[in-house]
Amino acid sequence: MTMNLARCVGVLASLTVGTGLAEARPLKAVASFTVLADMVRVVGGDKVEVRSLVGPNGDPHTFEPAPDDARALKAADVVFVNGLGLEGWMDRLIVASGYKGTPIVASTGVAPLQMEDDGKVVIDPHAWNSAANGMIYVAVIAKALAAADPEDRAIFETNADRYEAELSHLDAETKAAALGVPVARRKILTTHDALGYFAKAYGIEILAPLGISTEQEPSAATVAALITQIKNDGIKTYFLENSNDPRLIAQIARATGARPGGELYVESLSKPDGPAATYLAMFKWNADLIVKAMSEKN
Ligand SMILES: [Zn+2]
Repeated sequence: MTMNLARCVGVLASLTVGTGLAEARPLKAVASFTVLADMVRVVGGDKVEVRSLVGPNGDPHTFEPAPDDARALKAADVVFVNGLGLEGWMDRLIVASGYKGTPIVASTGVAPLQMEDDGKVVIDPHAWNSAANGMIYVAVIAKALAAADPEDRAIFETNADRYEAELSHLDAETKAAALGVPVARRKILTTHDALGYFAKAYGIEILAPLGISTEQEPSAATVAALITQIKNDGIKTYFLENSNDPRLIAQIARATGARPGGELYVESLSKPDGPAATYLAMFKWNADLIVKAMSEKN
């Protein structure tokens, strides 16, 4: 009697899941932002269903969660965060959602860098912009997924091995391409403060444009200082994060001969039809644009 009931419930459960006979439902994973969610997706394959809290093109530093996000978090089997101070909003959301687990910190094992934020020295959270660090993330993710779903451990490990090999290749390729540029030209001008790990890993100097990152509307003096800086440093291409002022861009271009380098994706993936829909694509996109910018002769 009891056996039959148990079997009955079992049959019902597998029908509800609907993925075929005796197949377990995919693990429900939540990741804080798109770059991390993509890594979990690659390592988890079809054994894991991943939701990113911050969406494509979103800012992972600030996030306004919807009720739906709290529900997803509460129902998650495993939750991934970047750590290193990126997700200042996460603790509040966890408490509000009622999620009882402990998030996995994907950057565990990374050697942290420091950066300046509003005049204060803080830990730089953008560690994924070194592909070698990406490999550390992947290993942490594979281990956490295996702990949550031991039956599929071999699958996670195989996926992670393949992914790490791709990242290792990308890391070596980026290093070779960057180091192929003469050292005097191995510098870029950018407002993206998310490129510290990239610069360190690939031997690049980042120049911050004077004034531009802190002022909404740069003054004439700021623009003049920027133009002098671009000329003095021999910058041929510049990357401005919020370069939505076409007049400023045109003015700098006219006065210096330097060109805007295009859009970098440094802390958020593009939409699926964009140029940076995965972590690998994003990394390669940025590396190609930056190396191209540094290689430009005149
Ligand atoms: Zn950032």
